Amino acid sequence: MGINMATEEQIRSGETADVYFKRTMENYPPDLNDLVVSEITVSGYTNPWITFTGLHDVLELLKGKPLSIQAVPEGTILPCRDIMNIPVPFMSITGRYRDFAIMETAILGLICQSSGISTQSSLVKLAAGDRPYISFGIRRMHPAISTMIDWAAYVGGADGVSGTLSAERIGIEAVGTMPHALSILLGDERAWDVTLRKKSAGKRTLLIDTFNDEKFAAINASTLHPDIDYIRLDTPSSRRGNFCNLVTEVRWELDLRGFKNVKIMVSGGLNAEDVAELASCGADAFGVGTSVSSAKPVDFAMDIVEVGGIPKTKRGKLSGLKYVYRCEKCFTVNVSHVKGSIKCSCGNSMTLVTVSYMENGKILQKDESASKIRERVLSQFPKISSYTGR
Ligand SMILES: [Zn+2]
Repeated sequence: MGINMATEEQIRSGETADVYFKRTMENYPPDLNDLVVSEITVSGYTNPWITFTGLHDVLELLKGKPLSIQAVPEGTILPCRDIMNIPVPFMSITGRYRDFAIMETAILGLICQSSGISTQSSLVKLAAGDRPYISFGIRRMHPAISTMIDWAAYVGGADGVSGTLSAERIGIEAVGTMPHALSILLGDERAWDVTLRKKSAGKRTLLIDTFNDEKFAAINASTLHPDIDYIRLDTPSSRRGNFCNLVTEVRWELDLRGFKNVKIMVSGGLNAEDVAELASCGADAFGVGTSVSSAKPVDFAMDIVEVGGIPKTKRGKLSGLKYVYRCEKCFTVNVSHVKGSIKCSCGNSMTLVTVSYMENGKILQKDESASKIRERVLSQFPKISSYTGR
């Protein structure tokens, strides 16, 4: 079998689908009028808003099929429900049910996991503020999806990623410091020498907590190499006590000795709350792993909302094709079943967020770079506090 994973061909052919879709298609009436609109919404999430990503991969999966797709742009941050409690349609697919039923498992998987990671990444970036945060979490997840994880983390707000192939796809330099292994094999001082001898671009960072106390190791590393950019604390949880106070102490002792230029990077089991706390006590940069890479997926669901042009759906869902509008001034979100001009209660005209991405298999919009999508995400941060959830 080799490594236990599906190939891209198996995903595209529907082999990774839940079996009930396959069985449904086996006895499917060939003359059925099954022109439908299927809508993707989420009833709720652990966070009041979602940084939506994964659309590119869905379009890649479905292009060429006789389907039309409208969606909110990649990197749009939206609440699960609008101001009137209507679930926000993040994406709608129009076409014959038989032409995409088998793809539902893959479509949802592509956006649920990616959006979960992007949302968590946005939360970490909001906590880090201007201080850089690097995605370090691919080692805790299946390597086959490492590029998706780092991509989703980056566009969600991460300033860099550790994955080599991930960085190549994003179009940035991968970020890395040095492994504990090097200090274990060479001893700290030789390991630091070797690390600083590297030719590659990027910050000069020394990991200082392999054998010794953080304060004294930080002073030692800064004395030997006063021109380094960062010392990194990856203090094991068993030694941590109060990590925040430890960072403050290291900062104080470095400053006292004239090493104000040496910044402090922290890593090791950090989540958004830890980042906010550590930022407040002197940490300058963050390596964040599992809390982002294994973020809870967004439970997007896909439901038929129209059949043959007539609104029709199951219990618990709202029928009819819908469009998302947002007031770009106050970020009020409004879901409407008609396209037109809508006024916000603040007096501003609302903007149509929903975009037509595919018509009868033909992609209508240009691919956007990761950095452009990331800019879109960051530009929304100042206003999303109005998404309080319900
Ligand atoms: Zn408004």
